Amino acid sequence: MKKSIDSQLTGKHLHSEYEKYLESIVDTIREALIVLDKDLKVISANKTFYERFKVSPKQTEKVLIYKLGNGQWNIPELKNLLEEILPSHNPFNNFRVEHNFPHIGKKVMLLNARQIKAQGQWKDRILLAIEDITKYDRDRIEKEAGIEREKEINRELLQNQKDLLDGERRFRALAENIPILCWMAKPDGYIYWYNSRWYEYTGTKPKQMEGWGWQSVHDPNVLPEVLKKWKKAISDGSPFEMTFPLKGADNKFRPFLTRIVPVYDDNGKVIHWFGTNTDISGQLKAEETMLRLAAIVESSDDAIVSKNLDGIITSWNKGAEKIFGYKAKEIVGKSIRTIIPKDLQHEEDKILSQLRKGKKIEHFQTVRIAKDGRKIDVSITVSPMKDKTGKIIGASKIARNITNEKNLERQKDNFLGIASHELKTPVTSIKAYGQVLQAIFKRKGDTYAVTALQKMDAQINKLTLLISDLLDVTKIQAGKLLMQNIDYDFNGLVNELIDELQLTTERHTLIKQLDKPIQLHGDKERTGQVITNLISNAIKYSPHTDKIIIKTKNSNNAVTLSVKDFGVGIPKEKQKKVFEQFFRVSGEKQHTFPGLGLGLFISSEIVKRQGGRIWVESTEGKGSTFCFTLPFKSKQENKGKKSTIDEEAIKHE
Ligand code: ADP
Repeated sequence: MKKSIDSQLTGKHLHSEYEKYLESIVDTIREALIVLDKDLKVISANKTFYERFKVSPKQTEKVLIYKLGNGQWNIPELKNLLEEILPSHNPFNNFRVEHNFPHIGKKVMLLNARQIKAQGQWKDRILLAIEDITKYDRDRIEKEAGIEREKEINRELLQNQKDLLDGERRFRALAENIPILCWMAKPDGYIYWYNSRWYEYTGTKPKQMEGWGWQSVHDPNVLPEVLKKWKKAISDGSPFEMTFPLKGADNKFRPFLTRIVPVYDDNGKVIHWFGTNTDISGQLKAEETMLRLAAIVESSDDAIVSKNLDGIITSWNKGAEKIFGYKAKEIVGKSIRTIIPKDLQHEEDKILSQLRKGKKIEHFQTVRIAKDGRKIDVSITVSPMKDKTGKIIGASKIARNITNEKNLERQKDNFLGIASHELKTPVTSIKAYGQVLQAIFKRKGDTYAVTALQKMDAQINKLTLLISDLLDVTKIQAGKLLMQNIDYDFNGLVNELIDELQLTTERHTLIKQLDKPIQLHGDKERTGQVITNLISNAIKYSPHTDKIIIKTKNSNNAVTLSVKDFGVGIPKEKQKKVFEQFFRVSGEKQHTFPGLGLGLFISSEIVKRQGGRIWVESTEGKGSTFCFTLPFKSKQENKGKKSTIDEEAIKHE
């Protein structure tokens, strides 16, 4: 084979020495060589070619280059180049071809081809040299890729460093600013960094805290347990969680929830510990308060119930179970109307409408029904419940069983009623006999006996007043205070009473400042009782002054009467209460004023029953002005019926 190439190359003119020389050159040439004829058929190829492209001379010679080895040289670019060489005689050099050979894989080759010239003549032969540069090319690619990769790695490294720095900066900023205490330790537990919140809270310096210095801010009683757990976490590489007290700069211990987590490297080795201490004193306090409140609710004897705005019961405490007999599980989810008597169902509509307006209902006395049908007197307070946004979502209701109190009250009222009624008759006859005796002794000229009997009569009058007050109160309680309405001259009544009362005091002058005469329709006697009570009080509670002014003032539709004194006065916070039964303003001065605390209660009932209003303006130590207003046409509401929901009890929250 070599010989044939050589002969193609050298011709017969070369002697054998030279031939051998050429042969050896061709042999040593590491490039694959092929000689093609003008039809591009292989005339011959060298050893390197056969070896490199894994073909035999038999498969190669006389075969069209494109058909070589199952057409593996059928490379379009090569075809173009070869077809140009013969007509132009131009060689081509270092033409780079990449080709995927079926058996030998991808090759990168540099092709050099020229037309052979022998003895100055162009031969129709082409010498094609194929240099396999696959390896170098791969190296180059790899090298280039390597350099690129290296650059990329460097870039990544730089970015990572930057990210790390950024991350660290971010971490520090975060750790320094969060309100919790945090720190980092080496794998052996040696703490090398704390955030500033730690130093702020503990009031310590980094030097004191470094390593294991933290123990100084621990409670010595708890420290051994902390150390035990912490050392165990260090030896196991496991997270740590515990709540323990830490001493603050103010020397006070507060509970801290402490969590410590290990930070691992890629091989799962602990490289740091990261710890946080969160002050949970507020949380504990809130939890404690909740538990305390829950305990109070559960242990309360009062029924504490919550319901939604549809009146559906959402919670029911033990007190409610005891009072109403229903267990929580059988009534939660049912309507609150379950415990309201049929004839009082309208109360719930009113309560719900008040709640929706955000209004509170306080100490509303009514009746509810227990599971066994018993009627229970209750005093209920209902408050709207709001969510975080202030929206009303339901109500909490406290119901106190006042059956016993009510029974006692009834018994007391009964007793008062009976006692005062039974007292009234004998006192009236004592008074009558006293008057008869007075007349007899007067006739006999026994002045001593007459004076004594007059004094007795005055005391009997006081007793009569007390008895009639007690009777009035029992009537009011029972809703039986009857009013007898007539048309009467109001100023005439006032004049009459002032003149009468003037006789009872030597010290005071009762000054009249009356408006034009006015006709009123109402209970003249009861109204007179009110006026008498106000003037008597004014006399009684101003023992050191001598003037009382009684004024009437007509307006479009009502008359107002005021009684002004310059006596002891009433403290502001007690002014409203003086109209309650048995209320008496306490204090040193009170001991000297006799009374039961019923007069104003009765007066206010009488005024209210006639559609009027009663009130007091007063300054302690300077005097009081009691006033009432009566409409010209009094309301016909003296039917003896009490309204079920006292409007006064409904207050805006
Ligand atoms: P009583 O006078 O019998 O105690 P009242 O119902 O008339 O009962 O009055 C209730 C309370 O109001 C009195 O105990 C007194 O403390 C106070 N009070 C009534 N009127 C006056 C007044 N003019 N000045 C000062 N305090 C008064």
